[in-house]
Amino acid sequence: MGISAAPVARWNSDKKTLILGGSRHYTDRDRIWQKLHGQVRYEGPFVLRHGSCPGGADEHAHAWCAAYAASLGVIEDPRPADWDNCGPECPPPGTRPHRRRKKPGDIFHPGSLDTYCPGAGPRRNVGMVAEGADAALLFFEPGARNLGTKNLRRLAHDAGIPVIAHGPWGVSIS
Ligand SMILES: [Zn+2]
Repeated sequence: MGISAAPVARWNSDKKTLILGGSRHYTDRDRIWQKLHGQVRYEGPFVLRHGSCPGGADEHAHAWCAAYAASLGVIEDPRPADWDNCGPECPPPGTRPHRRRKKPGDIFHPGSLDTYCPGAGPRRNVGMVAEGADAALLFFEPGARNLGTKNLRRLAHDAGIPVIAHGPWGVSIS
């Protein structure tokens, strides 16, 4: 099955919400844009919830929204992670090393501090999934760790949200 024949997500609820996630290093902008155009063409407008990472899949989704969302009736629902702040599940300050220091040039953990909570991304993902969605559209970058994408895939599975995963293997549905 070619990429162009890949299925689209179906709106099975009145939410008409698509969660989009993927590697922060995801390079294939055209693939994401093609899938988003396909969603509108075959299923109509929707809410596009993504993690608002300033790179990779989220950035490609945001750029698509900036170009097309208003004219197509799509509503962008960005959910940036709160890298500055720890969550209730984090170890109390001083108990053990937990927060990570940003490396020079780090654009992936925006915030006002020079450290970030590594749990902020997964915590954000929990929130994205908890509100429910009709499907999760995920993009795995070949050779990248895709840790956040795998986390989101597991959370979506556990929540019973259908997952359409694009990667070097093609596309898979689960
Ligand atoms: Zn933390």
